[in-house]
Amino acid sequence: MSRAASPKKARGIVLLGPPGAGKGTQAALLAKELELKHISTGEILREEVERGTELGRKAKAYMDRGELVPDELVIAMLRGRLDSGSGFILDGFPRTLNQAEALERMVRLDRVLNIHLSEEEVVRRLSARRVCKSCGRNYNLISNPPKVEGRCDSCGGELFQRDDDKPEVIRRRYRVYQEETAPLKDFYRERGLLVEVEGDRPIEELFQEVLEVLR
Ligand code: AMP
Repeated sequence: MSRAASPKKARGIVLLGPPGAGKGTQAALLAKELELKHISTGEILREEVERGTELGRKAKAYMDRGELVPDELVIAMLRGRLDSGSGFILDGFPRTLNQAEALERMVRLDRVLNIHLSEEEVVRRLSARRVCKSCGRNYNLISNPPKVEGRCDSCGGELFQRDDDKPEVIRRRYRVYQEETAPLKDFYRERGLLVEVEGDRPIEELFQEVLEVLR
């Protein structure tokens, strides 16, 4: 089916980039600014693990090792969440060519934003990342620390370190990103959808540039 023949498809923006590039933070800011639904497959999977669902049990072993959850599980999980009508921002999906092709059949994308970050910076950032147990907000002990140690500024929830943010798992995740996900830049460049920004800068400054390139 051609793009023009499917006006009811949901529309959206995809954020690409290595783990730790700031996709989650920028996606949350963008969702608010542009009134879009923020869909993070990593966040959804962590909730499934927390709730002990069948999907969560299947996904956990992959996530703990820093590997990708199999395509068929993630694609099925996403399918139900892309209701037509509302715009969305996808953060952490697609991560493989298979997923990108499945997404192409489900939705119409306006833009794909790649946030670039070097491997050294990925490792440095992720080792310092902490996440709120209650609301999922991300902090960085170096560049974006909470006001009170160990507590979320937004909701007072307890901050924790994700199991997959431990150094040996971080290296594995970066390798998986290079092999499986980085090639998607070409996929979207060929379709005229890719825009790129450098992620190594303060959150607010990056956000202004993100808004600029998406305009
Ligand atoms: P994230 O929070 O985006 O870094 O995702 C955390 C983990 O969830 C990843 O390391 C993967 O194991 C899994 N995951 C999230 N999104 C996907 C996806 N689109 N495809 C496969 N696995 C995913």
